[in-house]
Amino acid sequence: MNTKTKIEIKGLSLSELEKYFISIGEKKFRASQVFNWIYNNLATRFEDMGTITKSLRKKLENDFTLESLTLETTQSSNQTKTKKFLYKTKDGHLIETVLIPDAKRNTLCISSQVGCPLDCKFCATGLMGFKRNLTMSEIVDQYLLTASEVGKNVITNIVFMGMGEPLLNFQNTLDALGIFTGRHTNRISRRRITVSTSGIPEKIIALADSNYKVKLALSLHSPFDDVRSKIMPVNSRFPLSDVVDAIRYYGRVTDTRVMFEYTMLKGINDRDEDVKALTKLCRSLNSKLNVIPFNSIAHMSPDGISRELVPTSSEDIKAFVKKLSDNNVIVIVRDTQGDDIAAACGQLATESEK
Ligand code: SAH
Ligand code: SF4
Repeated sequence: MNTKTKIEIKGLSLSELEKYFISIGEKKFRASQVFNWIYNNLATRFEDMGTITKSLRKKLENDFTLESLTLETTQSSNQTKTKKFLYKTKDGHLIETVLIPDAKRNTLCISSQVGCPLDCKFCATGLMGFKRNLTMSEIVDQYLLTASEVGKNVITNIVFMGMGEPLLNFQNTLDALGIFTGRHTNRISRRRITVSTSGIPEKIIALADSNYKVKLALSLHSPFDDVRSKIMPVNSRFPLSDVVDAIRYYGRVTDTRVMFEYTMLKGINDRDEDVKALTKLCRSLNSKLNVIPFNSIAHMSPDGISRELVPTSSEDIKAFVKKLSDNNVIVIVRDTQGDDIAAACGQLATESEK
């Protein structure tokens, strides 16, 4: 029996696979052929790769594995067309991926970590704690396996807004962006991919200087350091002024409009002084404010401040948004998608991982 550890082929870049083929005396265009099978044709077995000779397929099978995740269950929302996919890693962790259709696009919300170490007080993933980073192939497989389920070319947009902080899993996130924007995945445009972060300045700058220059969303949630630190402990390490400087740099270098995410918490970030400070901040750079109704995390039975968090009512959200809009802030309210299947933002935490 062959006990050799096989390499995950979806963890390789095109140039790494080219190097492999050259090292075994093959032409490097074989790498492009294999990439085409995996990423364009969604092949799940080497034996299906018809343009590769039989002996080479055997060699690939011997050296590599195509599997990283397996689909455990799917769940569809009754209210919307949102669909949640529960995937299992080889070491038994469960992670979630959500497909969110709307009139214009089908957005895939993918996870970057099992759990999250940043402990934001309103976030179910944060309450789970941190298990580990996802590998590049586990990030990429969420896209590939979901595309196999829903049909090729159905997914038009990708957002890193599932479980985890993508900028704390920086290299794997970058490598996955390389696959998503590469020619073998029909080049999902960098403007159709959004990385959402709680705000790690050094990594925001590194992402701006990378090859990918995708869209960036910053989880803002308060324009005040003291309030933000209470609900997002990461703010004590990286204060807002440093994060905003990094965001300004990001917008300039990538020529993109930065999105601020803002989850509405009653009495905490929905006051008139918040309107005033938000107006000043949002108008000081090319930005758009995305107001998000707070999704309940009661299913996690939290304690401490998490237990006290209450959503701002929809009437109060409307009034808040109107004030901002009257102040010439570009602001939209995000639909709460898939609420009934706990597939909305920040509700991603799996029963077995709780
Ligand atoms: N770690 C990254 C990306 C994942 S979270 C980040 O924090 O940006 C994706 C978005 O969901 C973030 O804006 C996050 O603040 C928001 N979110 C988390 N919990 C939420 C909740 N219970 N209700 C609404 N939005 C939430
Ligand atoms: Fe982590 Fe983002 Fe949740 Fe904060 S909001 S705990 S950074 S996943």
